[in-house]
Amino acid sequence: MTKMRIGYIGLGTMGAPMAMNILKAGFPLTVYNRTASKAANLIAAGAQWAETPAEVASRTEIVFTNLSDTPDVLQILFGENGVIDGSHPGMILVDNSTIKPSASREIYQRFHEVGVSALDAPVSGGDIGAKNGTLAIMVGGEAEALEKAMPVFEAIGKKITHVGDAGAGQVAKAANQIMVAAQMVAEAELMLFAQKSGVDVARVIEAIKGGAAQCWTLDVKPQRLLAGNRNPGFKSSLQAKDLNIVMDTARDYQAVLPGTALNSQLFNGMVALGEGDLDNSAVIHMLELLNDTELKTNP
Ligand code: NAP
Repeated sequence: MTKMRIGYIGLGTMGAPMAMNILKAGFPLTVYNRTASKAANLIAAGAQWAETPAEVASRTEIVFTNLSDTPDVLQILFGENGVIDGSHPGMILVDNSTIKPSASREIYQRFHEVGVSALDAPVSGGDIGAKNGTLAIMVGGEAEALEKAMPVFEAIGKKITHVGDAGAGQVAKAANQIMVAAQMVAEAELMLFAQKSGVDVARVIEAIKGGAAQCWTLDVKPQRLLAGNRNPGFKSSLQAKDLNIVMDTARDYQAVLPGTALNSQLFNGMVALGEGDLDNSAVIHMLELLNDTELKTNP
């Protein structure tokens, strides 16, 4: 059976390895990225380059996008030579970016009018999950479109959930970010708490990792912080962006989220301090400032 022709736009930390997994699964792949040099590895591995997002769409059956924020996605879809200009009835658009649920609903509607089914399909699992093809993918949109695109989803993700109609995938991702941010802040607090109490932080982590506090954050982040590594992973500026999406959406629906409101202030504070390019676990710096102490490291 001939494989569907796939397009991938946005070859950053997440997009590049996801596109590579699609290519490795044997799908003919056309790529575009604002900074063309980031496509070099993919082209060396057999992908085709397109000059514009419209050209990607005109050559392919399923177009994936993976861009930073809502305005960037709108630009690539509806700006000059945008995806919609090269789209054709029956095409499927899959947006892997994390953006506002309300924007995903608007995208769905505008593409629906030209015969294209749009799926919002944000992901969780970080750069490691993107490389290993083990992402959790939360999908909003029509079930038939997801079913058709499923073989491609299976090349990039391990757990693929159809959450509901357009925008539902983004709501699930926003919910995910409520939890992730809370874990980052709690992890930072517990490490400084243990240190200030005069107890070995690494031993505390070891002791609690298998109990009720067990989570991915505790498995992965403390050892990086204790080694003095605050590099991303997942940039704090993106964490701040995601929490702003959560708070905007919460306001739209009168949801009251006091914990997330505080956490979003801590991450926005990091961005204000010029620390937006650090990992989200580096939010510990905000707690270090409040505690007038620094986490002791063993690089
Ligand atoms: P990234 O490394 O900063 O890459 C962003 C990509 O978007 C780049 O390809 C960039 O192009 C492109 N882009 C941004 N603004 C653009 C614009 N106005 N026009 C054209 N292209 C534009 O970010 P990332 O970590 O891959 O994140 C991508 C999305 O995945 C975000 O929505 C993020 O929240 C989400 N996400 C990230 C992670 C993670 O662990 N990193 C995990 C889950 C979800 P250039 O190369 O030209 O800059």
